[in-house]
Amino acid sequence: TSFGFKEVREEDKSQMVGNVFTSVASTYDLMNDLMSAGLHRLWKDRLVSKLHPFPGMKHLDVAGGTGDVAFRILEDINSTRHRAMQDATEDYLHEETRMYICDINPNMLNVGKKRAIERGLGDNKALIWVEGDAESLKFEDNSMDGYTIAFGIRNVTHIEKVLAEAHRVLRRGGRFLCLELSHVDTPIFKELYDYYSFSVIPAMGELVAGDRESYQYLVESIRRFPAQEKFASMIADAGFQKVEYENLVGGVVAIHSGMKL
Ligand code: SAM
Repeated sequence: TSFGFKEVREEDKSQMVGNVFTSVASTYDLMNDLMSAGLHRLWKDRLVSKLHPFPGMKHLDVAGGTGDVAFRILEDINSTRHRAMQDATEDYLHEETRMYICDINPNMLNVGKKRAIERGLGDNKALIWVEGDAESLKFEDNSMDGYTIAFGIRNVTHIEKVLAEAHRVLRRGGRFLCLELSHVDTPIFKELYDYYSFSVIPAMGELVAGDRESYQYLVESIRRFPAQEKFASMIADAGFQKVEYENLVGGVVAIHSGMKL
């Protein structure tokens, strides 16, 4: 029935996620740096290097509210690597390049838009901000060269729907990449990590963001998220080929990838 336990729980979950991100949007950057000791920057760089961005690409970054990943992709396209291949007078961003940044939370998108202006990208027409749900994207089938989702899929209600949508919007040859907090297995490191996440992170959340509960929820959601192998098989079930993953910092974070062939 519509009052079944499962439905009620899922409703709670979406509402809770909304509240969590509304309350953390302002202290978001600071907390990311503190919690990961600045490492999230390197993890995002790694994600982008695995994407192999190119001028003229159509890319979709989902759950990308703050623009962190999209800005990195644009910077990569602007790098000397590509510039060397182009006429020095030509605009570095091929006029067809499009970076769609999709997020369900307008507060996060606003943080991102503000940062784009600060970076001098305010009127860059390659950047397109779209409010939307990863589970039902507003983009056409086979329309994207790349799809990224960083620290976003863990909080959605139906992971399978997100993966199916990613597969739908990618064109053949398009690449799917997901950066997410994952599972640590190594005995001693696991104990240290458990202590850090169950004790240090909620305390840090209280101290810095004045919000212990949201960070407690964050830690619990990491534990509930499927482990590396399981998540890889879900990606394959969505139709992706060449599915693989790379653990960073012993599995604190993993980058999963797949191709639509
Ligand atoms: N990708 C950015 C980064 O790595 O800095 C932001 C990650 S933030 C932890 C998670 C983001 O996912 C939030 O901006 C939140 O609004 C968004 N989000 C949560 N559920 C979503 C959904 N169903 N569809 C799209 N975005 C969602």
